[in-house]
Amino acid sequence: MDKKLPITCPSCQSELNVQSLACESCDTTINGSYDLPLLLKLTQEEQEFILDFVRFSGSLKKMAKKLNLSYPTVRNMLDDLIDTIETRQQSDADETD
Ligand SMILES: [Zn+2]
Repeated sequence: MDKKLPITCPSCQSELNVQSLACESCDTTINGSYDLPLLLKLTQEEQEFILDFVRFSGSLKKMAKKLNLSYPTVRNMLDDLIDTIETRQQSDADETD
């Protein structure tokens, strides 16, 4: 079963950070506090949309066919995703200021 990477705290809904990374081959563990990359902060569906979009060379026509949706619907999905990414980039930039 694929475990889903949690991105928000189940207790207070804040964004989670990466605190520990482990090497499974030698059991080395690295501890620290790292921000999740922007791509990982997107939902599973959004990540899949981006991967498909790249795989189809950015063709919304092919995306529409694959998702079995109309072209305008897929266009709207892309616009929403652009908004989400821009908002996230903006809030990430504000955090580091
Ligand atoms: Zn190792």
